[in-house]
Amino acid sequence: MPTPNIVVLGSGMAGFGAAHRLHTEGITPVMYDKNAYYGGHTASFRYESGFIFDVGPHISYTKDLRIQQLFADSVDQRYETIQINLNNYWRGHWPLHPAQIHLHGLPEDVIIKVIADFVEERQAPERPVKNYADWLLASFGRTFAELFPMQYTRKYHLTTAENMSTDWLGPRIYRPSLEEVLRGALSAAAPQVHYITHFRYPSDGGFMCYLKKFVPLGNLKLNHELVSIDPRTRQLTFSNGLVTHYDRLVSSVPLPDLIRMIQAAPPDVVDASRRLACSTCVVVNIGVNREDISRAHMTYFYDEDICFARLGFPHMLSSKNAPPGAGSIQAEVYFSHKYKPFTGAPEDWIEPVIRDLRRCGLLRDEDKILSSQAMLLRYANIIFDLERAAALKTVHGYLDDLGIAYCGRYGEWGYMWTDESFKSGELAAERALSGVACAK
Ligand SMILES: Cc1cc2nc3c(=O)[nH]c(=O)nc-3n(C[C@H](O)[C@H](O)[C@H](O)COP(=O)(O)OP(=O)(O)OC[C@H]3O[C@@H](n4cnc5c(N)ncnc54)[C@H](O)[C@@H]3O)c2cc1C
Repeated sequence: MPTPNIVVLGSGMAGFGAAHRLHTEGITPVMYDKNAYYGGHTASFRYESGFIFDVGPHISYTKDLRIQQLFADSVDQRYETIQINLNNYWRGHWPLHPAQIHLHGLPEDVIIKVIADFVEERQAPERPVKNYADWLLASFGRTFAELFPMQYTRKYHLTTAENMSTDWLGPRIYRPSLEEVLRGALSAAAPQVHYITHFRYPSDGGFMCYLKKFVPLGNLKLNHELVSIDPRTRQLTFSNGLVTHYDRLVSSVPLPDLIRMIQAAPPDVVDASRRLACSTCVVVNIGVNREDISRAHMTYFYDEDICFARLGFPHMLSSKNAPPGAGSIQAEVYFSHKYKPFTGAPEDWIEPVIRDLRRCGLLRDEDKILSSQAMLLRYANIIFDLERAAALKTVHGYLDDLGIAYCGRYGEWGYMWTDESFKSGELAAERALSGVACAK
């Protein structure tokens, strides 16, 4: 049987996961990406100022030994292994992460109320959990739920906890025992319980280097933005005028965009794809003439009047990410097409981020800003609102019927990390190989 012409859309983790799987069958797929660079959300940029910034903070904490090995091979075993240190900022206080077991140092009234509500909740009869808000109240009691995770939800997921499901949680949010809450309130040295304890990061060149060895596995066509798919004739049209065909299609393109491109997609599918919610992130990168900025690799910000939801410090991941003696900060400011549309230019957020970094004391008046940039991630985190499951079923069902093997964070439309996106690409390639995803 002749080898099928399998086309891969996207050159991020999922696209290269697909290329990797196809390579084992002796197939080198043509891969198209709209960007001028490969890597998608895992790309890294080296700026003239000497700083390296990833497209949003990226570290690898996969527990999958095969993926660990693949990534390590890709950087010729040159990676850092770092013990993670996370903290939070809340109204001028810096509790360690997760805050529910690190109440020490918060105002006494807050601690007492949190513990009283926690105990009351533990003694209350079990209630049905209909949404994320119910889950938070049952897990932590009202005071902690409202002051911390519900507040963070509005900043990071751009909607309320009442409007969110719980099927994305997994190990992400720790449910402590009363003893753990009490210990964390009495002592500054409560145990580390975060589901990530260590992470890896390439020694030189940024997170993107984890893809280096996969690049030759695809026949990569950059600057190729797909604008139309005709599933009847299996024809792809690109904005640069290229028209080409496929036998089987693997796609990591975000679902709302993919559906919009498919000719004659039914109105109910188009409507469902529009109901899929995702956050948009303005990433602001700041280079500073000082490296002792933070002890944590990442900090979560709850206060409404601080514009960013999270900060990362890339110079702490690899010394090569900043010039000697300099430090770097990466801030995430969130919007959502569905709940809080982004307007203006990403650069508009550089000044507010610097202002808030000064307000919370991370930047000092005498600090010199050596570099600043902003970029927009149209698709950042999938929002698990209550409409997601039904809308996704409609969209995926339609793509299954067409035989398009969707994959990756924005193809599966899930809360997927890099390793999961890579594996999702491998599985999509398998579906394409077997023809299962190409029934029509
Ligand atoms: C802010 C942020 C922080 C994160 N932090 C971590 C972390 O610390 N650790 C971790 O493991 N994961 C992290 N993730 C998740 C990780 O980024 C994703 O799991 C992974 O990068 C998704 O890969 P993908 O290939 O599925 O999607 P993408 O990387 O988005 O790849 C899709 C590709 O399709 C291309 N494309 C889209 N439309 C078209 C079109 N019309 N024509 C042609 N090409 C097109 C895009 O240009 C892109 O290259 C983070 C994500 C975000 C947003």
